[in-house]
Amino acid sequence: MRTVDEHLADCLSVVSPLPSVELRLLDALHRVLAEDVVSSVELPGFGNSSMDGYAVRLSDVASAAPGHPVTLPVAGDVTAGPTERTSLSPGTVTRIMTGAPVPTGADAVVPVEWTDGGATTVRITRAPAAGQFVRRAGEDVRTGATVLAAGTRLAPRHVALLAAVGRATVRVHPAPRVVVLSTGDELVPPGDDLPFGGVHDANGYGLVAAARDLGAVARHGGIVPDDPQALLRALWSVLGDADLVVTSGGVSAGTRDTVKAVLAGLGTVRFEKVAVQPGMPQGVGVLGPARTPVLTLPGNPVSSLVSFEIFVRPVLRTLAGEPAVAPPAVTAVAGASWSSPPGKRQFTRAVLTERPGDLPVVTPVGGQGAHLVAALAGATCLAVVPEEVTDVRPGHELACLLLDRGDR
Ligand code: AMP
Ligand code: MG
Repeated sequence: MRTVDEHLADCLSVVSPLPSVELRLLDALHRVLAEDVVSSVELPGFGNSSMDGYAVRLSDVASAAPGHPVTLPVAGDVTAGPTERTSLSPGTVTRIMTGAPVPTGADAVVPVEWTDGGATTVRITRAPAAGQFVRRAGEDVRTGATVLAAGTRLAPRHVALLAAVGRATVRVHPAPRVVVLSTGDELVPPGDDLPFGGVHDANGYGLVAAARDLGAVARHGGIVPDDPQALLRALWSVLGDADLVVTSGGVSAGTRDTVKAVLAGLGTVRFEKVAVQPGMPQGVGVLGPARTPVLTLPGNPVSSLVSFEIFVRPVLRTLAGEPAVAPPAVTAVAGASWSSPPGKRQFTRAVLTERPGDLPVVTPVGGQGAHLVAALAGATCLAVVPEEVTDVRPGHELACLLLDRGDR
């Protein structure tokens, strides 16, 4: 029997970050940076006005006040856009628009609201502080600064920054390509009528959806019957366009557990009992000339999706170029009693109830059978019961893995 952590380490040992590619900015959204991005420019690129108003010398307007306006000639006009550098002669002002370069010699901008808005002369009724309403060159980004570190998953705000520093392309790890195979003679695609004894293929769809939720390019590779030749054919046909193959079913100890029977014989995939509930039978290894990573998950729908959270998720993060950190967890207080098998880490399907100013309460939902897919759908988290705990009691604190994270 392997511990959860040992099996996770086995899974991570068969993957490494995918070789990086140079993508155009919008194609790089949600990908993970494979380079430290160093800015070749400063931001702002030049001192500019943050208001529509008048660029002034402080010494010319220092005495301006509501009862004592200062009137000055407007010597020029400057608007946003490529332009000549301008300078401000003493005793004059330059009318300036938001984003326009501040003339040399000006120390501040007086917003139009503090003036009469004049075009040839202007009455100023308030004095700005030094530098007020001027955005200084380089105050946001200095030339040569690292603005984004390798390992950053690019969100829209990162794409905006890359564009702002002038990058049209960026080096990232591509999205992992995942193929899911559902195995089982009983499986029928959703949409087809069920014969007696038939089962709709929940896992194929659930696993593809879970992989896409993490930003992978995932596809369903089909339903494979419990037949060694059919399984090998299906596997070999998908190896060429997959960075990871995930199978469900056929890994326990039955006479039709073909995945285990066939792949164990090839010698590059190991099958283990893992001290976890649900999801005990697991397999991990590589297949084919490219040594494509393969994870074989158990067939019960709850087992297969919980296994995804614990084992496939960190593998996908690694392929995508991110650290294989544990999924985000919150600490909650048990709101009921339940039992957990000795020596196994239990992932209890549960709901979290928030309490203002206190830890949330975690309560199991539905039954805990590994076939209860509706109970899983009703859960919002997996409560993690450590190996040494056999009886959870109200008030016990548990780490809970959130199921609806909305991350990639
Ligand atoms: P197995 O691991 O192949 O022995 O399957 C264990 C249980 O999970 C059986 O009840 C199967 O019918 C069920 N099962 C296996 N694969 C799927 C699937 N893709 N969708 C829904 N149930 C499945
Ligand atoms: Mg089966």
